Amino acid sequence: MCITPHTTAPPSMQSPFAPTHAGRVTGLAKRPVLLHARRMNEAVPVCRRCGACCRQGGPSLCREDLPLFAAGVLAPATLMVLRRGEYVTDNVAGGVVPAPVELVRLRPGQGGRACLFFTEPDACAVHENRPRQCRDLFCDAPQAVADAYLEGRLTRRDILGEASPLAVLCAAHEAETDLARLAALCRRALGGDAAAREAVARIVRLDAAYRDLLPARAGVSVTELPFYLGRPLARALPIVRAALGCGGLYNEAPSA
Ligand code: SF4
Repeated sequence: MCITPHTTAPPSMQSPFAPTHAGRVTGLAKRPVLLHARRMNEAVPVCRRCGACCRQGGPSLCREDLPLFAAGVLAPATLMVLRRGEYVTDNVAGGVVPAPVELVRLRPGQGGRACLFFTEPDACAVHENRPRQCRDLFCDAPQAVADAYLEGRLTRRDILGEASPLAVLCAAHEAETDLARLAALCRRALGGDAAAREAVARIVRLDAAYRDLLPARAGVSVTELPFYLGRPLARALPIVRAALGCGGLYNEAPSA
């Protein structure tokens, strides 16, 4: 499955799903063809260097991209996480679905959807060190990337190291604000279950507390929060807004 950040909310729950991008190739990015195959006159995919995929968002990362951190190409501030259970657009099958696994991807640049390394016209600022998905995707033959989309995905734990204090904090946040459980609570709250609504509000407060804690106590910058904690809950899971109240009640202070 190939997932993409999505900004159009399904009618039933207004909201965003993050984009995922099944691999982008910058204009200058790829050597288009396998020369041997060319000689054999086989139909091979060609990169037109149009930058179209880069404009749709950054790629998600796989374990082969791990050396890019040691090389200083990638860092938490360049990334965002789509959490397991977060609503995303499946670009292959279509539709909005919960992400089946955690996905670490390059974040978009300021004020847009394009990959933060993309510069007009059609250039990649990290061309020589672009992630695997960028090297593998061809507009005319996206299926290979799509088929392998969930294989060998890089996780926060891979990047931070299992025993690092920040990895432990991320894991605790993940468990305490589990999106599948939260979605189930939201559905109960929408059915009139007051206890479930209060549980949703409690989880939202907890998520906010983590977002205060990491910059204050762990030396994390605000721009790195989408990597360490993913997107705020109401963006990751639009049904949270509905569960906490119609007409903007999400902004109402949750009951103590
Ligand atoms: S890393 Fe480079 S090739 Fe990959 S999406 Fe970003 S700009 Fe495009």
